[in-house]
Amino acid sequence: MLKKTKRIPGIPVKEIDLNDRKNFKLVTATMTSEEAVAEASRCLLCDEVCNVCTTLCPNLALQHYEVESIKFKLQKIENGKIVDDDIFEITQKEQIIHIADWCNMCANCETFCPSSGAPYKEKPHLYLNKTTFAAEKDGYYYDNKNQTLLAKESGFDFSLTEKDNFYLYQSDNLIAKLDKKTFEITDYTGAENEDYDLKKAAEMSIILKGAEKITGN
Ligand code: SF4
Ligand code: SF4
Repeated sequence: MLKKTKRIPGIPVKEIDLNDRKNFKLVTATMTSEEAVAEASRCLLCDEVCNVCTTLCPNLALQHYEVESIKFKLQKIENGKIVDDDIFEITQKEQIIHIADWCNMCANCETFCPSSGAPYKEKPHLYLNKTTFAAEKDGYYYDNKNQTLLAKESGFDFSLTEKDNFYLYQSDNLIAKLDKKTFEITDYTGAENEDYDLKKAAEMSIILKGAEKITGN
């Protein structure tokens, strides 16, 4: 059920009388500390939840989804060994995904984004049509039946399959089994003398959540 919200108006700005301005008195009064606290409590925390673009896209091509905050140390494969890599962290629970098939590039979302963003260019592009996805160089496609997110980046192919306790990640010459909670590599096969990192896999694990929601999995 939708929660009812109530508009809380701002505190009116207090100004001195028009007849009392031929002097050096402050025209606009400052707030008392109580008023300042009340005013600050009206903040909508739009740096945490904005979603403006999802409400103004005429084609509903921008959709929001929620993820859990996560933080883990990634691993990578270097000289045939598993070693520690950078921290991967998601603090913002609210995420936006762009359904590329539905976007006609009107740029409405760019015009009204309060953060000067261009969501239709910058957010992950999810294709619902596999043929359209196949013709693109960058983007994502979710194979609902196999719980697999396919990705393309600059023409390279990646896939991430979600299982009960692990992810199976595939990129050029690499197949890696990753612990779902810690993202540790529990098994892998890869080409000798090639190094691999898992940054793309970590990003895909987040986008997969959005793709699942959009496709109703
Ligand atoms: S550019 Fe695309 S995503 Fe943005 S408002 Fe227009 S149709 Fe929607
Ligand atoms: S892309 Fe812009 S409009 Fe959309 S949620 Fe982020 S800040 Fe808000």
